Amino acid sequence: MRHAAAATALALILAAGAGPGAVAGPLTGDWGFDAAGMDKSVKPGDDFFAYANGGWDKATAIPADRLGWGVDYVLGAQAEARVHEILDAPPASSPEARKIHGAYEAFMDQRRANALGATPIAPELAAISAVRSKADLAALMGRSTGTFQSSVFDLGISPDQKSPDRYAVSISQGGLGLPNRDYYLEASFAAKKQAYQAYVAQLLTLAKWPDPETSAKAVVEFETRIAEVSWTRAERRDPDKTYNPTTVAELQTAAPGFAWRPFVDAAGLEGVDRVIVRESTALPKIAAIFADAPLPTLKAWAAFHVADSAADYLSDAFGDAHFQFRDKTLAGQQAQLDRWKRAVAFVNRGMGDAVGKVYVAKYFPPESKAKIDALVRELIVALGQRIDRLDWMSPETKAKAHAKLAKLTVKIGYPVVWRDYTALKVSPTSLAGDAEAFSAFEWRRQLKRLDRPVDRSEWHMSPQTVNAYYNPTMNEIVFPAAILSAPYFDAGADMAANYGGIGGVIGHEMTHGFDDQGRKYDGSGVLKSWWTQADAAKFEAEAKKLNAQYDSYEPFPGVHVKGDQTTGENIADLGGLLIALDAYHNALHGQPAPVIDGLTGDQRFFLAYAQSWRDKKRDDYLRQLIVRDVHSPVKFRVDGVVRNMDAWYPLFEVKPGDNLYLAPSDRVRIW
Ligand SMILES: [Zn+2]
Repeated sequence: MRHAAAATALALILAAGAGPGAVAGPLTGDWGFDAAGMDKSVKPGDDFFAYANGGWDKATAIPADRLGWGVDYVLGAQAEARVHEILDAPPASSPEARKIHGAYEAFMDQRRANALGATPIAPELAAISAVRSKADLAALMGRSTGTFQSSVFDLGISPDQKSPDRYAVSISQGGLGLPNRDYYLEASFAAKKQAYQAYVAQLLTLAKWPDPETSAKAVVEFETRIAEVSWTRAERRDPDKTYNPTTVAELQTAAPGFAWRPFVDAAGLEGVDRVIVRESTALPKIAAIFADAPLPTLKAWAAFHVADSAADYLSDAFGDAHFQFRDKTLAGQQAQLDRWKRAVAFVNRGMGDAVGKVYVAKYFPPESKAKIDALVRELIVALGQRIDRLDWMSPETKAKAHAKLAKLTVKIGYPVVWRDYTALKVSPTSLAGDAEAFSAFEWRRQLKRLDRPVDRSEWHMSPQTVNAYYNPTMNEIVFPAAILSAPYFDAGADMAANYGGIGGVIGHEMTHGFDDQGRKYDGSGVLKSWWTQADAAKFEAEAKKLNAQYDSYEPFPGVHVKGDQTTGENIADLGGLLIALDAYHNALHGQPAPVIDGLTGDQRFFLAYAQSWRDKKRDDYLRQLIVRDVHSPVKFRVDGVVRNMDAWYPLFEVKPGDNLYLAPSDRVRIW
């Protein structure tokens, strides 16, 4: 992906990633570039990101209601305003249009939400209260899949990694209320963990749960034990380690302590026996922690998580508490988003395709699709040429890499088959009910397809999403309409700017098929080794070298980028830009590029790339992303990439002694 995505459905997909205040000056100039946003007092060889963006960075403040600001935030705010206009207009007469407007109306009805207080989650809380055994609680956790999620294990349904023409049920570690395990275990997050305990107590109080303070302490201790045995983000990226097929009965033997069959059955998976366990060594330990915990602690844990997942759909007391902790304390956001912005996000999340259908008709002309498609074809050719030129790869592996590239599926703009919302019931007078209906509808959709062939037309992002992704089991790259616009792509802009912008994005996604994990899937999306052992070893040695470079980056004193967690994205960034540069050169057909504003085509290419990553984030949010996101901070997605490219050095007179200088032998060469 291009940047971190919130949707859990994407957890199994190898990611890309990026976000708004007042942007000083235009994002793009005459030729697709903002010269005034540069900082020419910085030597490009010392900090290329600051050289290209320093002026903008100094002149830009992050808006109070955002986690950051930059290119993707500006595009995100544009899409948000467009969807707002769609939802605020009188609805068309179709049932689907009435549903999106109904859901929007439900969210906007703050008065009703306040009058209801905690009433909408009373049935869930009563069910938890009534639990008399841990087996019953396991069943309740299974049932929470497809409502307000409250389970120590997560169930998923996605294409089987080793036979991606059918679906499989997966079970993963869960149970944590903080962004990830580091928040429980690292001293640097101790204050956040303490604030979390206060938040748990606050929600339990609002939910009228008995002994909120004592319960909150027990809940956080319980989660800390889970954090200790949970796999790291880096380990969870590995598709070989996370592919552990077993049966529910075998799981019961391997991980006693949790009532697996009642759990799976209650989720609507009666009769399903084969499951893929993801974090194989963590599950038995979490089951043991569950078995060991007092029932009242587990019940308080479940009650808190129901309240936390529903908070945004309840009264202001819940919504404000949720904002204060999740957005402000954990991520530094200063003001809550206006209600209409949250309402837009809500409808996008639940009925993304229904909104997207209207969005693309208004904002995504057919010409755009054709132009991007042509560009993607050029990038595919460029990657093929690079494969041919690799000096470290054997002809045998090269042939297979070509075969995989030839099978790449490309999806642009919006899905061919739109999701059918006929079975979804929405009420303009029931916000929490609609939130539950969205989740239940999505889970039922997944359950229904379990025994059917894999749906190759499916999209995991709505067209109005500013992001993109590669999906390894489909061997496909997917570009939603909202990312296919300026400054990434502008038919009127200089070619160099387009190749450095959208070219880099397309190249990035394409390279995911050949990053450290994506390379383990063949052209049909099957997780199976197609590399000679010697080539795989060479690849891994170069990837390790790249990891060591990123491990050395220190966004805050003492806080380093995690090389092994971000490898796939770092490889995709580097490969993507190399491919985009080749494609740009191919497109010049041997003619010299024009010089504009004293800059050559290649200089503009690199500067446009650096400006496409124009972005700043709040410190607390960035610290969070460093431990949980598979993408490196944007500065290193620029500086960490260009220093490994020979072509960049002479263009900006980078010399030994400059901060970013790498001797040719130290530059990483993968694709
Ligand atoms: Zn990516």
